Order: sequence, then C-alpha cells, then structure tokens
Amino acid sequence: MRSPAVSRSEFYQYTVLLTCCLVLLLLRFSGDAMINVSSSHFMRIYLDHNATTPLDPAVAAAVASALGENFGNPSSIHQYGQRAKAALDDARTDVAALFGGEPSEVVFTSGGTEADNLAIRGAALALAAAGRRRLLASAIEHEAVLATLKALEHDGWTVELLPVDATGVVSPESLRRVIRGDVALVSVMHANNEIGTVQPIGELARLAHEHGVLFHTDAAQTAGRIPCDVRALGVDLASLSAHKFNGPKGAGALWARRGVRLVSHQTGGRQERGRRAGTENVPAIVGLGLAARLARARLASEGPRLAALRDRLEAGVLSSVRGTAVNGGSSPRLPNTTNISFDRIEAEALLIALDLDGIAVSTGSACSSGTLEPSHVLTAMGLPGRRIQSSIRFSLGTGTTDAEIDRVLAVLPPLVERLRRVR
Ligand code: PLP
Repeated sequence: MRSPAVSRSEFYQYTVLLTCCLVLLLLRFSGDAMINVSSSHFMRIYLDHNATTPLDPAVAAAVASALGENFGNPSSIHQYGQRAKAALDDARTDVAALFGGEPSEVVFTSGGTEADNLAIRGAALALAAAGRRRLLASAIEHEAVLATLKALEHDGWTVELLPVDATGVVSPESLRRVIRGDVALVSVMHANNEIGTVQPIGELARLAHEHGVLFHTDAAQTAGRIPCDVRALGVDLASLSAHKFNGPKGAGALWARRGVRLVSHQTGGRQERGRRAGTENVPAIVGLGLAARLARARLASEGPRLAALRDRLEAGVLSSVRGTAVNGGSSPRLPNTTNISFDRIEAEALLIALDLDGIAVSTGSACSSGTLEPSHVLTAMGLPGRRIQSSIRFSLGTGTTDAEIDRVLAVLPPLVERLRRVR
C-alpha cells in the first residue's frame, strides 16, 4: 500500500506551526510594546536549564587550558601521556564523589545518551546467555533510553514499559506485578526532564534486587542538582551528563558498580577498563570533573535557592493567569523545574512569543520539542490532549535571579491574555 504524501504526524506539525505563525503575526500587528524586541527594558532570561546549561567560566578556562597544554594521549607511557592520565584520574575522582562511588567504577562517555546506551546494551548483552531477555523501563524515560530499548526489542529482547500515575510517578506496585527472574535490567530515571518528578528509586531498586535483577537509573537531570548517592539509592548503574550542570557538551559518565559486567558496544582499544573503547576526550573530561566538583560544593545552597524561586514563579503564574495547572506538581520534584499548562493556549505560540520577549522556555525535552510530537511524558500521565498541547516547561539554573522571575511574572499574564484574545 502506498503511504500518504503527508503523514498524520506531519500534518499535525504543519498545523501547529501555521497556527503559531498566524498568532504571532496578529500579536505583532496588534502593537503591544511588551513584544518589542528592541524595547529599552529588554533583558534575556534563560529558563531552559533542563535542555542544557551555560558553561561555567571556570570550567571553560580549565577546558581551554587542557586543550592547549594537556594534549598527550592518556594511554601513552611518557610524561605527556601521564599528565593527561593524571587529569583523567582527577576528573574520575570528582565524578565518583558526586555519585558517592569509587573512581574505578566511573566510565567516561560522550554524554548522557552514550552512558544510557552503555548501561542498557552493555548489561543486556552481558546477561543474554543467562536467559534474561526481558527489559523493563518507565514509560517516561528520555529518548536515549526508549530508543535504545526499541533497538534491543528489534534484536529479540522483550521490552515492557511501566506506567506512571497522574502525578508522573512510577509506582513500585507496577514493577512488583511484572518483575521475574527472566528480567536482565530495570531502568527508571532518577528525575524526569519534562516535569521534574523524582522517582522512588530506592524502593524500585530494592524490588529489582529481590529478583536478582540489575537496576539502572538515568541521573542526567539529578546529578549535580540534588543528592545522587548511588549507594544510598541502591542502584547498580547510573548515567550523568556534564552539560546539565554547567559542564561542556559531549562529556558524560556511567557509574557501574564494581562486579557489574558490561559488554562494550564500541570495539577498539582497552580504554576505560575495557568498557568503552576510544581515546578519552581529555579536555571535555577535565571540564566534566571541575563542573562536578563545583556542583557538589553548591548542592546544599543551590537546591533551596532554586526551589524558592521556582515556587514563587509557580505561585505567581497560578494566581495571575486563569486556567493554569502544574503538571506533576503534587509529587516530589527537582527544585528547578515546573511544567505548567495554560488553558486555551498553543504551547508553541506561547514559547515563541516569550522568546520574542527574551524569555527562553521549552515545551518538553529538547529532543521531543524539536519534533513537535505531543509529549510522551504528559501522555503517559493520562492528561487530555488539549492540556498536553498547552504545557510549558520552565527550568531554572545557577544564573537565575529574583529579578528574572519578577520579569517573567510581569510579562507572562498579559501575553497569555493577548494570545487567548487572538486565538
Ligand atoms: N537523559 C536525560 C534524562 C536527559 O534529560 C538527557 C538530555 O536531555 C539525556 C539523557 C541525554 O544526555 P546528552 O545530551 O548528554 O546525550
């Protein structure tokens, strides 16, 4: 059968884009001074820290210095190599400290995606011969996990997704119902990137271990933001990404508990104790190490500060804009994240209007917002389509100030009113 020239999903994307453009044109011509890029009080505000964070200047300096001076290959025996290896060792110690693990348990990767791939594929391949061919994960995982599972399903593994409730949390009961001794790995993220809900990892990992099953957590959104102690959580594998805590992009790590066997999915040299072939990206890893150290040092103060700013933003929006609701708001959440739906608003139109006013937010994960597909996270929570399409994520970070929250609270209510009027 011939496939239609334009698929349903493409048609949906075109419609949303067209609507956004029309709404923005109307807003432009209706002459609101608040939507004037050249206005004198224009200030740029970045509230998309769950997509990525700005590089810390001290980290940028350390990366630049390593790029210039520390060019040796860490596998080389001479002094250039030993100097590069010492830099890797320091970074490994800093990353291990952030995880509460041992340096030898840290595998450097090219980021969170590769760490997730290595954890899931590595463990699945290592356990296949033992007849453990089932893989379990939550329905709200990042694409790095979901797409990896899909590829493994294609290769013969059975993949089952655990549901979340209306508050965006995986219930241990749902895991208890399906877990058996034929499962190789359970993967549940520590906190969700779109709504910020923190999952009951300790309980879920305990359940997995009762059946001799390995437990992986994607900690890309929690490492460097809230305590992420792998021993306290009781997990076997945990992934992080440097660019989520003011480190460079293209650097990440997998913590793998000593004794957990992983099959390397890259073939080549014996780097990273045979778990990840390829010469390490020394400058980026130096940046990751320093970013991990700085994040760990500010963990105790930054969490409460961001939570207070986030709560003020949330309360301000809910009280000044009619028809708003927080998605996942009643669950334990990351201190920096709020996901709010705005009745009778197309999220993309609001996102673009806010951007024109210098305020950067998101409609979900950076990846899924790029495709304009409805969020799989909000869908899994059972929210109605209208609410999903009207949801905006605000994610705060180290640079976020009181003045910025004031500005958002001044700009947002009239903007939403205007968008509703021109609808
Ligand atoms: N996992 C989660 C929860 C994320 O939010 C992200 C990034 O958006 C990733 C994995 C992927 O990390 P990276 O961009 O370093 O590949």
